[in-house]
Amino acid sequence: MITARLPQEEIDRAVEALREGEIVAFPTETVYGLGADARNPDAVRRVFELKGRPATHPLIVHIEHQRALERWALVVPPVALALAEKFWPGPLTLVLRRAPAVDLAVTGGQDTVAIRVPAHPVAQQLLKGFGSGIAAPSANRYGHVSPTRTEHVREEFGDAVRTILDGGDCRIGLESTIVSCVDAVPRLLRPGFITLTQLRAVVPEVEGTPATDSPRVPGSDVKHYAPSTRLSIVTSATLEEVVGQLTADGRRVAVLATRPPRTANKYMTWVNAGRRADAYARELYVGLRTLDKSGASEILVEEVPEGEAWDAVRDRLHRAASAENVVAVDPDIAALRAEFGDGIGQP
Ligand code: AMP
Ligand code: MG
Repeated sequence: MITARLPQEEIDRAVEALREGEIVAFPTETVYGLGADARNPDAVRRVFELKGRPATHPLIVHIEHQRALERWALVVPPVALALAEKFWPGPLTLVLRRAPAVDLAVTGGQDTVAIRVPAHPVAQQLLKGFGSGIAAPSANRYGHVSPTRTEHVREEFGDAVRTILDGGDCRIGLESTIVSCVDAVPRLLRPGFITLTQLRAVVPEVEGTPATDSPRVPGSDVKHYAPSTRLSIVTSATLEEVVGQLTADGRRVAVLATRPPRTANKYMTWVNAGRRADAYARELYVGLRTLDKSGASEILVEEVPEGEAWDAVRDRLHRAASAENVVAVDPDIAALRAEFGDGIGQP
């Protein structure tokens, strides 16, 4: 794993590219970002074009240091300051009221802006060299699995992104925790490596997100973080049985699990990502990409354990699955499945 700094000449070339309005893919500790000069609306629009992302879906502005915050935020409430001081540089994004100079292209037309100080040494080198904000979403096409290695960025964009800074495998592997500090009560918008408990240790009043394991009504949410192969979530108890059903006619099935298989099956590809949440998170997108390329007609993901440590992973998996494919013991979900489902893996 390369986590060292890059030679200054390589950083200088990337900085030059950003200044010329080009797009630069760079590593952060969460996932790889597709970076553009946040002050250049044409460059920012190019990011949306490349990703195929709707213009209303805002980007995160990456800055070198908390000191630059007031250039991007209209006000920095004490709660935001406290969180920044504790977790920056790091995998935390703060949503604040935008400063007037922040382009609406970056914020998706909103009056708020998302800001983060990443810790990855290469991201830090790039930001320091550039001296201003870099707007960057994850370096993948809209709705796809996020990239945690440079080869993933190449898979997504080929030659369309010429400058890719190589920082090795991303240490965390899941997108940042997002906290909105816009209203009186700060709110967790996206779970990540930094948990609600850790946030509350600094700012006790942070509100949690709605439970991620509650059933999603089909069509109410955009499918995200998803491989091309259909993905279903299956309880651990039924996993082998579902694999048996699906492979009965010789179809191939790919499985992402927290344990080894209990029975062998020549039609299945099995990735055991283990039972440690941090290690699983780091493996998740690599695993999904591997399984996506395995030739399977279906990806089955074993439901991950209960508990806060798994919140971010659970969130991404439930978004990657179609709602009707989320299989759990929850009677509400069972009801949803009865209405919309296809009968596989009933608990
Ligand atoms: P990505 O860059 O793919 O990690 O996605 C950026 C995330 O930040 C999205 O989920 C956005 O909804 C969120 N985000 C960015 N800006 C804002 C904002 N102004 N208000 C709320 N969420 C935001
Ligand atoms: Mg993304």
